[in-house]
Amino acid sequence: MKPAPFKYIEVADEEALTSALADYGDDARLLAGGQSLVPMMNFRVVSPEVVIDLNRVGALSYIDCRDDVCRIGALTRHAMIEDSDPLSRRCALLGQAVRNVAHRAVRNRGTTGGTLALAYPGAEIPLALMTLDTDIILRSKRGERRLGMKDFVLGALDTSLSGDEYIRQVEIRMPPPGSAASFVETSRRHGDFAIAAAAVVAARDDHGRLDYLRAGVAGGTGAPVRLTALEEALSGDDPDDGRMADSVHEAIAAIEVFGDHHYPEDFRRHVLKGVLQRALKDAIVGSERRHV
Ligand code: FAD
Repeated sequence: MKPAPFKYIEVADEEALTSALADYGDDARLLAGGQSLVPMMNFRVVSPEVVIDLNRVGALSYIDCRDDVCRIGALTRHAMIEDSDPLSRRCALLGQAVRNVAHRAVRNRGTTGGTLALAYPGAEIPLALMTLDTDIILRSKRGERRLGMKDFVLGALDTSLSGDEYIRQVEIRMPPPGSAASFVETSRRHGDFAIAAAAVVAARDDHGRLDYLRAGVAGGTGAPVRLTALEEALSGDDPDDGRMADSVHEAIAAIEVFGDHHYPEDFRRHVLKGVLQRALKDAIVGSERRHV
C-alpha cells in the first residue's frame, strides 16, 4: 500500500514547528520516528493532508538529569534512553520498559513524543511514565501547558493534545536512591506490544518498611493505570507474599479491563494479576533498607 497524497513540510526549529502547526493544525500529523505513522499512512488508517517532519529539530533530542528530575526531549529516540547511564542509574524502570519495546532497529527511530502521542494501550514507555511521577510539557503558538500523565493520556489512542500543539518534553521526578524497579510483561512474541504489563518501583526505610511505592499496569485498560490504592495499602509496611497477593487481587478487581475477541476480559485480568504479582515481589524484595 502507498499513502494518499500529502504536503510535506520539514521544520528546522521549534519556531517553525509551532507556526506550521498553527497554520495546518487538525489537517496535519507530525512525523517523528515514523514507526507508527508511516505504516498507518500506508494502510490509510490515517490520511493527513500535511505531514510536518520534525527530525531536524535537534533541540528536542536530549536527556538531562539534574538533582531529582530527569527531562527528556520529545524527539529522544528509545535507543538513547536504553543507552543512557544517568537514566539507568536513577530510573531503572524506564530502561527496563524501553528494552521491551520492539527491537533495536525500531528503538533507533521511535521517539518518546511519538509513543506518548500515539497512546497505544500495550505500549511500555507510557506505562513507565504513568507509574513514575511524570509531567508532560506541551507547546503551541498559544503558549505552554504542563499536564500530569493521568491528564495527558485519556484512553486508548486518546490524549489531551490539541491539533496545534506538540509534545515538547517529559519531566520525571526520580525515585529515591536505593529503590528497586521491576517491569514485567506478557506478549505473544518478544518485541510485540504487551498483552499485559506491570511496572513497580519500591524503596524501604531503615526499618525495612516501604516508604516509596509506585505501581501501574497496562494492557486491556485503555490508558495505563496507576494503582494508588495498592500503593497506599502497602506503604509503611513490610508485606509478606500473602499480603502482596491479596493487594494484587484487590487492585486488579477494582480497575476497568476491556476484553476483545483475542483476549477476553477474564483472561486479561488473570494475566494482569500474574505480571503485577511478579513485578511487585521483584521490586519489594530487591529494594534496600536505606537511612532516611
Ligand atoms: P511516529 O510514528 O512518527 O508518530 C506517531 C504519532 O505521534 C503520529 O500521530 C505523530 O503525529 C505523533 N507525534 C510524534 N511526535 C509527536 C510530538 N512530539 N508531539 C505530538 N505528536 C507527535 N511500541 C511499543 O511501545 N511497544 C512495542 O512493542 C512496539 N513494537 C513495535 C514493533 C514494530 C515492528 C514497529 C514498527 C513499531 C513498534 N512500536 C512499539 C512503536 C514504536 O516503538 C514507536 O514508539 C511508535 O511508533 C511511536 O514513535 P515514533 O517516534 O515512531 O512516532
